[in-house]
Amino acid sequence: MQKDLELLLKLQEIDYTIGELERSKGYLPDMVHQLQKQIDEAANSVKALEERLTQLQLDYKRLELELQTLENELAKYQSQMKIIKTNKEYDALMAEMETRKTRISKGEDELLKVMNEMEELNAKIPEYKQQLTEIKKTNQVQLAEMKKEIDSIGTKIKIKEDERKNIAVRIGKPAAAIYERVRKGKGEVVVVSVKKKACSGCYKSFPPQRIQEIRKGDGIICCDNCGRILIWDSDSEN
Ligand SMILES: [Zn+2]
Repeated sequence: MQKDLELLLKLQEIDYTIGELERSKGYLPDMVHQLQKQIDEAANSVKALEERLTQLQLDYKRLELELQTLENELAKYQSQMKIIKTNKEYDALMAEMETRKTRISKGEDELLKVMNEMEELNAKIPEYKQQLTEIKKTNQVQLAEMKKEIDSIGTKIKIKEDERKNIAVRIGKPAAAIYERVRKGKGEVVVVSVKKKACSGCYKSFPPQRIQEIRKGDGIICCDNCGRILIWDSDSEN
């Protein structure tokens, strides 16, 4: 293969690596953000459940106190029953007792609901905490790797750019100009091999005479359809 073509292939490889590094500048911070978000969301879930449990514990205490007060009042009215003298007093006392009984029954229902939810939360919270621990463990390893990766992108690009310069100066001007022109229009895939008698960049088939020219490899030959630089390599014989 021509020296220029060999160098162009190397250049293409370096350009691809630089492209990948440039792209990672965009997506790595997004991935870091996603991993951090997963940790935060898991932590927030635990926090929300714990806050709910604290609220329920307060509700439980309040309801217990309220019920105790109502029971005391009921007991007091019941003892007063023994000493009433008139029907009017009796009716008034009965009304008070009914009110207390209704409120006790409502309070007990509420207390039961609170206790059920507390039981659920006491089972749920350790599960959520376990999930948080696992997410933290996994994500923090990845986060450390990604942050290291982000910090090294600049240096890696610089190294590749130096490599690129060293190769670029050795390429003939016409070949280099064609490469840069195609790269501008077609992106990273500039030098392509002929496969099954066709351009592997755009799949256009070539007539036998054209195949002969490419195989001989005199000068830079471009695909007349997509303009990419064609090479004849081990894959092309098939
Ligand atoms: Zn082509």
